[in-house]
Amino acid sequence: MQKTFKGIPTSGGIAIAKVHHLTQQLTSNQEGSIGFLYEQNRIKNAICDAVFEIESMLNENLSVEAEGILLTQVAILKDPELISNIENKIRKNRINAAQAFELTMNEFIEVFKNSNNHMISEKTADLKDIKYRVLKILNQENKQYEYNEEVILVAEELYPSETIKLDKTFIKGIITEKGSKTSHAAILSKQMGIPSISGIDIHTLKNDDLIILDGDEGLIIVNPKDETIRKYQSIRENFYQLKEKMKYELKCLTETQDGKEIHLLSNLGSTNEIPKALKNGALGVGLYRSENDYFNLDNLPKVSELKKIYQKILSSFKSKVIIRTLDVGGDKMLPYLEPLNELNPFLGKRGIRFSLSNIDIFKTQIKALLLSNETQNLHIMLPMISTLDELLQAKSIIEEVKSELKNENIQIYEPKIGMMLEVPSALLAIEDLLPNIDFISIGTNDLLQYLFAADRMNDEVSYLYQPFHPVVIKSLKYVVDKAKKYGINISVCGEMASDITTALMLIGLGIDELSVHSKMYPQMNYVIRRSKMKELESLVEKAMKLKTNQEVFELFNQYKNELMIS
Ligand code: PEP
Ligand code: MG
Repeated sequence: MQKTFKGIPTSGGIAIAKVHHLTQQLTSNQEGSIGFLYEQNRIKNAICDAVFEIESMLNENLSVEAEGILLTQVAILKDPELISNIENKIRKNRINAAQAFELTMNEFIEVFKNSNNHMISEKTADLKDIKYRVLKILNQENKQYEYNEEVILVAEELYPSETIKLDKTFIKGIITEKGSKTSHAAILSKQMGIPSISGIDIHTLKNDDLIILDGDEGLIIVNPKDETIRKYQSIRENFYQLKEKMKYELKCLTETQDGKEIHLLSNLGSTNEIPKALKNGALGVGLYRSENDYFNLDNLPKVSELKKIYQKILSSFKSKVIIRTLDVGGDKMLPYLEPLNELNPFLGKRGIRFSLSNIDIFKTQIKALLLSNETQNLHIMLPMISTLDELLQAKSIIEEVKSELKNENIQIYEPKIGMMLEVPSALLAIEDLLPNIDFISIGTNDLLQYLFAADRMNDEVSYLYQPFHPVVIKSLKYVVDKAKKYGINISVCGEMASDITTALMLIGLGIDELSVHSKMYPQMNYVIRRSKMKELESLVEKAMKLKTNQEVFELFNQYKNELMIS
């Protein structure tokens, strides 16, 4: 008969599987002490092994929170007070290492448990975890839990070290009698995307009972009817759950299943977007479109105004910040300057071409950039470079500004200098350009516009925005291979980086840095973490033999859809 129980929801999501009780019966054995030195040695070695075990888990793919839990445990184990307390008991009570250790830990646990400070009492689980781990080593019982079918794990209490090791292939949910929303095991199960509930009388659940666990509502349904199962299966498919999972997974490293780390940076259009990017977890900026700061003014900005803006961006991010120099022209004209009246503005005085013919404006911006780099994370990016001459000319102006500042005895920190790759001539001249830059970022919006000769502002030819076209793949592959040959960092900041399907293709091409809209972080991270570099590389290889945008799109889209439901 179907029965429902209510507990405390600790990690969201739905799980439908059979109950599996986890047995934790480790205690110190009752044999007597062999002698002080022998027992002292045993406990020291066991603690050493436990520290080693925990520290080797730190190499795994952990969130900051999970890392914090393990580091706290290491600190407790390394506390000299712990070992001297144990040694005293071995000596005075003539008991063995395991008994002395258990007694000491029980004392510590009591003190923590009775603390009025919630933060301290919550750490009781860490102490129990340590106790369990060291006793396990002393008992030489290091059993790994192995499953061959999907189960919902049921335990009186689950320790963080056990939670971290759970095999997600088979453990679909966790039910514990003890624990809270903020217990470390709950934090870890959330991070791992395993639904969990605590506060359930576990004796009401029998091994092999089929149950539904609703981690959002904190419900357990034992022996559910077929229609209840169907209802929950459809809830499981619900996008909300997926989004929750994506949010939790943001704490994990963005890397493929086979260990290729992908760096996600943020595209920013103005300083107003900084708080949102930080909230979404952005560590750095891959493209700051600096021209936007020039649009809301009545006049050209002064060095001091620009410096303030740049200092704000640079100091907001721990990692690198790539600020693109003024990219006006095309569809972006400064309202207070004479219009250019060009027949083909996108083929006219755009980007670096504008800066090189308005050297004062360019120098003002460069000066502000150089003066703002106390944080030493400034990367200056030159847009629309078409030839080596342009690049060298822009760089010599930067050098000029630097020496002007040095002559005024103003200390500056050297920024990295890079360029956008968005013009086909630069793509073909890449080997001449690479030795002269520190980094390169591909502006796929313009690169595709120029590759297909299709104005990006003209709806009539928008069908020619074909990011999956084998021509695009071959062009990008050419640049990526050359950048790798010269050891130059390469990233993509055009819209292709912000679209999940094209991003997968870029990763397959060997690009490991994507600058995206920060709101895309959860989805990007989620999909990348389920992808395999090897598979993406072989999809790229297949794609190179295809003929059309549609064919390649289908290849990557199918792969992406499979990852989204996995
Ligand atoms: C690009 O061209 O891809 C790019 C990122 O620059 P923008 O869209 O500002 O031209
Ligand atoms: Mg561009």
